Amino acid sequence: MALRIAFAGFNLESVSTVPQRVELAEFQRVCTRGAEIPARFRDTNTVPGGCIAICEAEGAEFVPLFHTLLGALGPASDEAVEFYTRELLDGVATAGPLDGIVLFLHGACWAEGFADVERHVIDSLRAAQPDLPIAVALDYHGNVDARMLRGADIAVAYRHSPHIDMGETGERATRALLRMIREGRRPGLAVARPGIVIPSIMSATSLQPLATVMAEARAAEAAGDCDISIMAGFSYADAANTGMSVICLDWAGQASAEARALDFAEKLHGLRRELSAAVPVLTIDQALADLAAHQATGRPVVLLEHADRMNDSTHLLRALLEHDPGPAMVPFLLDPEAAAQAHAAGAGSRITLSLAGKSALETGGPLEIEADILWTGPKSFTVSGRYQQGSFVDLGLTALIQIGRVRVSVVSHFAFAVDGDAFTIFGESPQDYEIILLRSKTHFRDFYEPMAERILVVDTPDLGPADVRLIPYRRLDVTRAWPWCELPDITKEPETGEV
Ligand SMILES: [Zn+2]
Repeated sequence: MALRIAFAGFNLESVSTVPQRVELAEFQRVCTRGAEIPARFRDTNTVPGGCIAICEAEGAEFVPLFHTLLGALGPASDEAVEFYTRELLDGVATAGPLDGIVLFLHGACWAEGFADVERHVIDSLRAAQPDLPIAVALDYHGNVDARMLRGADIAVAYRHSPHIDMGETGERATRALLRMIREGRRPGLAVARPGIVIPSIMSATSLQPLATVMAEARAAEAAGDCDISIMAGFSYADAANTGMSVICLDWAGQASAEARALDFAEKLHGLRRELSAAVPVLTIDQALADLAAHQATGRPVVLLEHADRMNDSTHLLRALLEHDPGPAMVPFLLDPEAAAQAHAAGAGSRITLSLAGKSALETGGPLEIEADILWTGPKSFTVSGRYQQGSFVDLGLTALIQIGRVRVSVVSHFAFAVDGDAFTIFGESPQDYEIILLRSKTHFRDFYEPMAERILVVDTPDLGPADVRLIPYRRLDVTRAWPWCELPDITKEPETGEV
């Protein structure tokens, strides 16, 4: 009899301070279920894609339950968390005999009524299925502690940011789960926390000193029978366990897992200053001065409005329109209302728009502009870049508009503009522009680092500041974390903050 491995995915990265809750309907819009999951994800660079590949390669039966994944938005509604937890328990109960399950969770999903969403999901499944082997595949930006993973047997996370190894992460989780089932033994699983909170902009794994720490983790894995996940954490989700962590899965046992995790946590703690300052962060004026001081080279300069959390901030777009430093492209600006107005007016028309800046006061507010409508219509595509390669993205009703020398693609659904697709879907190329304004934190680097003339990280007074001390935490105890406190005791677990 082939081993039967269930799969379920519930994945959201939450910025606690974003006012718009992510309701159940939004998760349902992108949710795939049952046979639709292998049809959609086989041979894609995604966690379910990796799980399917290993099940098929190792002769196990892949039993798909559901998969919903929504990038980085606001808090999940309590209803959504309860709905998918219930669907998970019902799905496992009615799937027939199972040998194990791969759960794909983020680690930084946040909901008002839950101290720790992922812990709730894992604990609920463990309570309903005391003997079922559970493997958890996590995002590298997950906030993790030992308590969260107590109900899991196996936990692994992405090793790269940009997350170009989503498929590999699904493979690692599934391979370890099958090994545990076949060998009839549980590996050691430990979490250690260095007590460091860094902004997402500093979490790219090509930056130093993170790149070296990652290489050291790979060397430790090559020398020992273990899997080490260095976790950046997600500063903008306010939880008792917000911050960096190290997960170690170790086939030599629990003591070895704990020693390795602590070793890497201590290493990170020693590097806390460098980790918090891995890239220079500019003001808008400094970025404009940089643009003015350099000639165009035929390679675009990337301006990164990293503090934007809802893809609709207008701080930098306003500066581009006022100072006109060169032909610029602003891909995937989120404003369904403006996209609908542009569509109603039609291509070839010129209209006034109140554009973007509507999701929160911190976004900079809407821009009152006059725009030429170049193209409108529903738009979707399959990702060609390595980040989520092969995945289907639906932008909804979309409008390509021109304001002076600035071109903007206005979209109706939140989507990451991190590779060339944001241009090629309109028959354009990034090289057509001197300036590209992105809102990504790390994922853009895979495509843009090799091709951009310069990358200018610009801080704006928005919901995702580079200085994490500006974040109004309610659940994180900042008296025990860098950069508030010089020497947090890294051997102590945070309070679990029951809600
Ligand atoms: Zn992430």
